[in-house]
Amino acid sequence: MQGSGDPKSRGLSLGKLNYVMAFLALLLSLLLLFATYRTSGGYAVMRESTESYIKWQQSAYKMQIASDYLTDQVRSFVMTGKRVYVNNYFKEVNVTRRRETALAELRGGLGETEAYQNLKSVMLKSKALEEREHYAIRLMAAALGFDISTFPPEIQAVQLSEKDLTVSRDKQAERARSMVLDSVYVQIKSDISTGIQDCFSEMIKETEAKQSVAANDLQDLLSKQRWLIVSLISIVFIIVLMTSLLAINPLLQSVKHIRSEQSLPIMGASEFRFLAKTYNLMYEASRQKKEALAYEATHDKLTGLYNRSGYDFLLQNVDLDTSALLFIDVDKFKDVNDTYGHDTGDRVLSRIAQVLKESFRSGDYICRIGGDEFAAIMVRSGPQFKELIEGKVTRINDRLQHPDNDLPPVSVSVGVAFGEHTHTSGSIVKDADLALYKVKENGRCGCQFYE
Ligand code: GH3
Ligand code: MG
Repeated sequence: MQGSGDPKSRGLSLGKLNYVMAFLALLLSLLLLFATYRTSGGYAVMRESTESYIKWQQSAYKMQIASDYLTDQVRSFVMTGKRVYVNNYFKEVNVTRRRETALAELRGGLGETEAYQNLKSVMLKSKALEEREHYAIRLMAAALGFDISTFPPEIQAVQLSEKDLTVSRDKQAERARSMVLDSVYVQIKSDISTGIQDCFSEMIKETEAKQSVAANDLQDLLSKQRWLIVSLISIVFIIVLMTSLLAINPLLQSVKHIRSEQSLPIMGASEFRFLAKTYNLMYEASRQKKEALAYEATHDKLTGLYNRSGYDFLLQNVDLDTSALLFIDVDKFKDVNDTYGHDTGDRVLSRIAQVLKESFRSGDYICRIGGDEFAAIMVRSGPQFKELIEGKVTRINDRLQHPDNDLPPVSVSVGVAFGEHTHTSGSIVKDADLALYKVKENGRCGCQFYE
């Protein structure tokens, strides 16, 4: 593998991409989570302001109701003189205290706003109205001759004017009624009512402003959320696409190539490219080794022709029915060895191989099947080639008997059989062998066809 190149590859790294994608997905998810959290906060603001609005509305209504109730009770007392109304009045003022409760609720929600200032001036007017009502009750009690010590301390504390003390009881009653029924009383009540309404309107305005800000924030957050979701979906798609391009596709392609015994395509992430390059280097080395081994196993070292194994393999795989088989045996080769030595004998064998190779077509197969035995398989050749084969053998022997170097002259005997004619014997090999035997019998250096 050395010298065949560093298998390190450029290209996008799956490992790095994995980190980047995981980081992006995490970041977007966190942002989305944060946006969701903020959105629920925005909803809470909206809900709170709506709830406050309803609560304040109820408080303002409660104040109005309580104020009207007090007016009713005081008027009923001055009209009927029944003590129960005074009791009702003070029960509302001191025990039920609806106005105070409502006021406290409103004050809590308002803070130091303009609405609160309005409310404060309403309360001052309410105080004045209360004093007027107390005075009317005190005056009416005097007019009706009630024992004043049985009245609440607020009434006992009221000091009637000199004028009211001196007038008749009827006049006192008349004045008491007029104090809670006349236009001044009605005006103060109306001012209080308007004050509460103004305060309420102010509160509505503030609530609406708050709601509008919260609604805008919410809108903004929702649109950001939408973008985050779109980005997250895009990231998911990109991850799927990248994984497919960088990992899954190269993996499938690699499996396909390995199954069909091919080198791998260099594609996908840098890690896959590295694997493919490394595999290809190993694959190529192993292929070359296999080829070399296969060549060695099927070829003869001395002559480079097919050896016995190669010849056997060819017999199994070539269409012998349409071929001619030539057995070629060197004549009296023992004598060559004995006379010139084994080395020269080897050189003679090499020379014969060379001459044979040059004498046949490139598509024919020339083999060395034994010590001085050769075979030629001439593909697509029938008896019509007899003359041609005879001519070839003559030329081969001619060349071998007139060597153009220091080698001794030799000749070969050739037995030929055609695949077409093997029906009688059943074997083209036997036929060629018999034919060769006949040549040897007939004096060697020639060619004989199996008949
Ligand atoms: P024939 O004409 O009847 O074939 O006579 P021959 O002497 O050639 O007899 P045969 O074919 O039986 O002898 C083959 C000889 O080839 C025997 C052996 O010494 C020699 N031989 C076999 N292999 C080699 C080899 O690799 N190198 C050399 N130099 N000689 C070999
Ligand atoms: Mg021989």
